Amino acid sequence: MVSIFSLPSNASVALKSTQIYPHLNNHTTFPQQHDRRQYDTLQSTNPSSRSESPSTPWLNLTDVRPADIQYEKPPSSNNPENDMRLFDKIHGSMIGMAIGDALGAHVEFRPRAYLEQNPVSDMQGGGTWGLKAGQWTDDTSMALCLAASLIVNKNFNSYDQLVRYKWWWRKGYMSSIGKCFDIGNATKASLDEFVNRQHKFCELYKIKDFKELDQLSDDLSSKFDTNCSRDNVDSNGALMRLTPIPLFYCQSESGTYAVHFAGESARVTHGGQKAIDACRFYAALIYAAVRGKPKKELLDPQFYKQCFQAGWFGQKQLHPDIVQIAEGSYQKKNRPEIKAGAMAVEALEAALWAFFHDNNSFQVGVLSCVNLGDDTDTVAAIYGQLAGACYGVEKLPLNWIQQIYAKNFIANISDWLRFEGAQWWEKKKNMRGST
Ligand SMILES: [Mg+2]
Repeated sequence: MVSIFSLPSNASVALKSTQIYPHLNNHTTFPQQHDRRQYDTLQSTNPSSRSESPSTPWLNLTDVRPADIQYEKPPSSNNPENDMRLFDKIHGSMIGMAIGDALGAHVEFRPRAYLEQNPVSDMQGGGTWGLKAGQWTDDTSMALCLAASLIVNKNFNSYDQLVRYKWWWRKGYMSSIGKCFDIGNATKASLDEFVNRQHKFCELYKIKDFKELDQLSDDLSSKFDTNCSRDNVDSNGALMRLTPIPLFYCQSESGTYAVHFAGESARVTHGGQKAIDACRFYAALIYAAVRGKPKKELLDPQFYKQCFQAGWFGQKQLHPDIVQIAEGSYQKKNRPEIKAGAMAVEALEAALWAFFHDNNSFQVGVLSCVNLGDDTDTVAAIYGQLAGACYGVEKLPLNWIQQIYAKNFIANISDWLRFEGAQWWEKKKNMRGST
């Protein structure tokens, strides 16, 4: 497949991320003794321990909050300038999402009329969930689960993704406050179904210890039906956590993998075609943004058609409702016509409307999402995924980044997405070359 986009060779991305996150230049910080024991146990049972080093066992800890996780940085490559250019985009997308989530959290579910009287202009605590300023909700938690799964498995593993979502729901894994406090109805129904299927699987394959099910071998997990959603679930819960998929697969020369796995990642909890296709389209945008496609071309009504012709979407056209958005429906609408609701179609259109109208300012765009009201945090998180990838972390407000809970961990996991994504692509190229 021929790529229609490529990484900018002369992009002048300032290499000052290490000023914001000095740890990126630091040497490894080894986990405390307590944590080290858990690493040993998990490494011996996790399928990924069979892969080549380096491994990331701290991403399997379920009883350590993200800000307290002691991690290592990925090995350096022989092209640090390219690494930093990619990191600026990948980190921009991940932290952009977390900023949107945190900015909207305290007014989640507030109607537009309330936001018109009380517009949000800065990071704030309290409100809907009683969080501290900078703490985030299910959107970022689930995205971190997805990112951790891609990194640990070094590829897409839908079974492991569901295990990590279950850990978040049951144990507070990747939560900003140590527990799950805001699971969506569709996600909960799918995770209930997943646990039911795990019990049945246990009986079928005579697995004695239910806990072993969370570390199934690849052979066994491939026999597990991971499409746990009911039919026609078209809410925005898969779109809100999407970005690790295009970020991991962004180093492929084609957007095909990002688009394909975006759809598969949605399907495990949100099986409606509109929810799946919202993710496929948004993954194409994020993939192209990371690779330096200018904003004007991302928003071009011909973008989808070009990607389809390049083969990114295979033979499967997007749902007509998503095509309408891809062809720029939001560009002709005024604010009163934009609904920042819980459905994937509504949230996608609202996020793109804000991106189109933000005058190239992340601050303007993300606040306009929050001030639409209703699903404030999710629409802003969806906006942040794309705008952060397009503008890069260096263009995001530093005072907001610094208030984000576990900002260093989010930076680190972004760097691992870059590293493992590169490893995956190298292997893929070698496999293709040897056939
Ligand atoms: Mg949320």
